[in-house]
Amino acid sequence: MSRGRLFIISGPSGSGKDTLMTELFKMRPELKFSISSITRDIRENEKPGEKYNFITREQFERMIDNDQLLEYNVFVGNYYGTPKAPVLAAIENGDDIIVEVDVNGAAQIREKMPESTSVFILPPSFEVLKSRLQKRGTESDDKIKARLECALGEIARAGEYDYVIVNDDLQKAVNELSDIIRLDRLKSDRNQILINSILEKER
Ligand code: 5GP
Repeated sequence: MSRGRLFIISGPSGSGKDTLMTELFKMRPELKFSISSITRDIRENEKPGEKYNFITREQFERMIDNDQLLEYNVFVGNYYGTPKAPVLAAIENGDDIIVEVDVNGAAQIREKMPESTSVFILPPSFEVLKSRLQKRGTESDDKIKARLECALGEIARAGEYDYVIVNDDLQKAVNELSDIIRLDRLKSDRNQILINSILEKER
């Protein structure tokens, strides 16, 4: 059995990434998703254990000390991190797994796992990004301002990614993301076991 692949998805908050991911999982239910551990407050529409596990700073710092994180970062004053064990287990098991992280987290994972594939989700314009964040109504003006500043810093690093998807038309963006995953599965290194087994039979 070939190993699964790791897909890194990033995009500034307000890029419409969450809706895009929900649609992707409907289209590709076989994909696994890495649940991040984070220390920010839970939002009204969020369920613990769905996208995030909400933990305390002390718990998070213990995970850092015990080397249980594949990557982590501080974003607008809170810790966000990817637990290592579930990601490695999925890959070992032959499952493809999506990790949604910010640009710093993506850089850390790319360095540890250069065979991963990374995709950056871009909003169609800065104005759209701003209005999406304001409409969400989950954060104070100060937090929105900080998130917008982070967004510009993240967009400046979009060129570090293998692919960029512009999220102006949701269905088009989902199809593009799904195509990236489909084509990635055709890469020669994913089919090395089959290639070898065919060659073995001829020897
Ligand atoms: P939010 O608070 O809007 O849910 O997420 C804020 C930012 O943190 C987003 O850019 C999101 O992609 C990123 N993020 C979510 N989970 C992780 C994680 O496990 N690690 C890192 N480095 N960033 C994450």
